[in-house]
Amino acid sequence: ATTGAGAPPGEAARVLRRVFGYDSFRPGQQEIIEHVIAGGDALVIMPTGGGKSLCYQIPALVRKGTGVVISPLIALMQDQVDALTDLGLRAGFLNSAQDLDERHFVEAQFLGGELDLLYLAPERLRSEATLRLLDRGEIALFAIDEAHCVAQWGHDFRPDYLELSALHERWPHVPRVALTATATPATRAEIAARLDLERARHFVAGFDRPNIRYRIEPKSDPKRRLLRLIRTEHPGDAGIVYCLSRASVEKTAAFLVANGITALPYHAGLDARTRAEHQARFLREDGLVMVATIAFGMGIDKPDVRFVAHLDLPKSIEGYYQETGRAGRDGLPSTAWLAYGLQDVVQLRKLIDASEGDEAHRRRLSAQLDAMLALCETVECRRKGLLGYFGERFDGPCGNCDTCLDPPESWDGTIAAQKLLSAVYRLRRERGQQFGAGHVIDILLGRRTPRVAQYGHDTLTVFGVGTELTEAEWRAVVRQLLAQGLLAVHGDYSVLTLTEASAEVLRGRREVRLRRDPRRPARQAASAPA
Ligand code: ADP
Ligand code: ZN
Repeated sequence: ATTGAGAPPGEAARVLRRVFGYDSFRPGQQEIIEHVIAGGDALVIMPTGGGKSLCYQIPALVRKGTGVVISPLIALMQDQVDALTDLGLRAGFLNSAQDLDERHFVEAQFLGGELDLLYLAPERLRSEATLRLLDRGEIALFAIDEAHCVAQWGHDFRPDYLELSALHERWPHVPRVALTATATPATRAEIAARLDLERARHFVAGFDRPNIRYRIEPKSDPKRRLLRLIRTEHPGDAGIVYCLSRASVEKTAAFLVANGITALPYHAGLDARTRAEHQARFLREDGLVMVATIAFGMGIDKPDVRFVAHLDLPKSIEGYYQETGRAGRDGLPSTAWLAYGLQDVVQLRKLIDASEGDEAHRRRLSAQLDAMLALCETVECRRKGLLGYFGERFDGPCGNCDTCLDPPESWDGTIAAQKLLSAVYRLRRERGQQFGAGHVIDILLGRRTPRVAQYGHDTLTVFGVGTELTEAEWRAVVRQLLAQGLLAVHGDYSVLTLTEASAEVLRGRREVRLRRDPRRPARQAASAPA
């Protein structure tokens, strides 16, 4: 809590990265954090695991003074404070389980302005001494954790929580943020009434966006498919098309324009004036398609964006959710369409390998990508997978995603997986040589390419054993084995390698279920790049 209240924009994102080591906000976090930093009151309802803590921790760091957190979880206070201390934050707590010395020490820290966060047991606020202590220090905000305690009859903490309405009377200028995961409308109304938060902004972050139809498909001539999507389902609609690179933003925008669609590019390589102008046109005009890198969209509030298309795989589910979430803010039916291919995975893995930060950071990025891939390859309801990732239980099927509307067939891919993995295993012995998915598939299909001939790979026992599948189908097998962790990619040339789990498949100890794509007849797709 060092910076003043008039924090520059982007400060929250910087703290997120620098202090907490995260790359992007979870759904809802950024809006809440910015609202509280600006001094607003908030009632936050977010599923467990959704990331409520950051919603007060970051504002407490950005605003001047100490964030005072009221939490009934006395037994956890020490752990919470330890975890924050490990991150380099200055935190302390006051509760009745403490001895006098400890208490005095923490009080002195608070008065000296040496604490970013101070955790208080709710009963502390019933003591006039504590209130006077708070008077003498500087308070950045009040966070009221587990706010449903105020609304539950028979709850141990209820009497103490009812006293919390007094905070506002005593410190009218200190923002308050109440947080809970329990969110029936009745509970919500009672929390707001009891804590005098009726005029506060209410953030209800159940993560579901029921009006968005999620569709994810393997990449095959994506620009044409995008054009077809716009022409057949979204003619004249406003939309955002996300691409990974500036070059593909430019190419895609030009392609759409050449086909009669009003489209504009947006990326960090354009000068500030052009960017501002394109953004203004997108907001003002009807039916404009913005083709952009993910630099576009933060803080853009256009309610009638009817579709968000991804021509490349997002790096994480957080990113995917945030970007697709820009569709349909008005609640009307909207489309989130994503095309992804093996090449995306390879490229993103390279970016991860080349990224700054330590090994743990790279591992985290890699796990995020795996989760994104698993969402792409799932045979279950997309919404269920998406919400499940954010810790929200959803008893699908939702009836409004591609897997629900057009259930993918799944098939027993154990034998195919064994063939592919044993080919990878054989190639592993070619020291100094690196073979990617394309070469492995050539071998399985029995193609005598120059490269196959050069290395004598037509003499391998696996040569030509995979003609029952097409090239596109083999690529799908590779992708899905990657998504399931049964195969890995590494190195500059996207070399396929085995994982520990591959062995189980090769030894026949594990069955592999794969999804078949019903919308793409195998023959037609045989030559398509995946
Ligand atoms: P809640 O209090 O809502 O149950 P927490 O605040 O404990 O959730 O957060 C749940 C988990 O999510 C924690 O491990 C936290 O570190 C992680 N988390 C929160 N925000 C982010 C984010 N923006 N990016 C990645 N992880 C996050
Ligand atoms: Zn569904």
